[in-house]
Amino acid sequence: MKKSVVSIGECPSYNLEYVEKAVQSVVNDLGGVSAFIKSGDTVLIKPNMLQAKPPEEGITTHPQVLEAVINIVQDAGGVALVGDSHGGAAEGLKRYWDVTGYSEVCNRLDVELVNFEKSGVYIKERNGRKYYIAKPVLDCDCLINLPKLKTHSLTVFTCAIKNMYGSIPGQRKTEYHKLAPKPMNFAELVVDIFALTKPQLNIVDGIVAMQGMGPAAGKPFDLGLILASTDGLALDSYICHMLGKNPLKVPVNKIAYDQGLGEVNIDDIDNLFDMPVIKDFKWPPNIAGTMNRIPEPIMRGLLNLMWTRPVIKEGDCIKCGKCIESCPVNAITDNVVIPDIDYSECINCLCCMEMCPEKAVYLEQSFLEKVISRFA
Ligand code: SF4
Ligand code: SF4
Repeated sequence: MKKSVVSIGECPSYNLEYVEKAVQSVVNDLGGVSAFIKSGDTVLIKPNMLQAKPPEEGITTHPQVLEAVINIVQDAGGVALVGDSHGGAAEGLKRYWDVTGYSEVCNRLDVELVNFEKSGVYIKERNGRKYYIAKPVLDCDCLINLPKLKTHSLTVFTCAIKNMYGSIPGQRKTEYHKLAPKPMNFAELVVDIFALTKPQLNIVDGIVAMQGMGPAAGKPFDLGLILASTDGLALDSYICHMLGKNPLKVPVNKIAYDQGLGEVNIDDIDNLFDMPVIKDFKWPPNIAGTMNRIPEPIMRGLLNLMWTRPVIKEGDCIKCGKCIESCPVNAITDNVVIPDIDYSECINCLCCMEMCPEKAVYLEQSFLEKVISRFA
């Protein structure tokens, strides 16, 4: 028997009328909004607000998708709240809300934008690790996860599971990178946070996805879909199948599946419609796979010959210092022309790449790394 349902709705553009129709349709397929929200419920909507970038850049969940979801919440009598903790330091949150278009939508629809940096945290434990989760994420009656469909250079893919990482306020997110420098260990943390937050409903902005070197420096990909499920793992796995990727090659999916957090196999997912098959979507180089497979002692010996590392492009850097602030191991220091990266300290967490507002940080691969990742 199929255990999890994934619903998809075609949506050719961010025209609000189309988006509302698609959102309504996928929610109806899952039992309708009343299956999730009762009148008077507090509903936290958690978009992906990675950077203070306008919606056209495809880095953040589009405000029209946010608006469509707020509308269904309010129509059901729910009290909508919107919150996310962006990838960097706890300053300048209003700029993030304004530039992403969330302020305009929320002001117009009388929705509170919640500041996770100031809302306090609950301390939760899972698998022997301690997590600090913003209180609104756990206090709400219903949590709607609203990710953007993107590739991710470190975790391969970011969608329903990875999006809940933004439940951790401010700089603490980069501390977790420091605790778990290997991608597989970092993926365990991401899965813990997803399991602790347990969104009741996941709705994906897959109208314009990101391919290549996501989550911030990739290229847009016109996919034209809104997708939804109560099972975030099934949703992410379905999308991987659709885009030609074995979902178990994505570390967070593999770990979540091993922990029994949802479905991965397409035969166990009721997709309601024929699954579209997309052939030309570009995935990032398999950095995580390469790093995870190498035994620790051998890895140390090979490190000089085999590397992927962040490099700052001089012509694009405006010396804003965000990469310096975001580096969890202080491997980046200020310098006269552009910041300096100390590669003996760098743990390849890619926070600097995520946080650079100018896309001035790119990944460089050694010859050996390129050869090995081709077979990964
Ligand atoms: S590399 Fe990017 S984040 Fe770092 S200083 Fe330059 S522009 Fe700012
Ligand atoms: S230099 Fe960049 S990739 Fe390296 S540890 Fe610092 S933030 Fe992470």
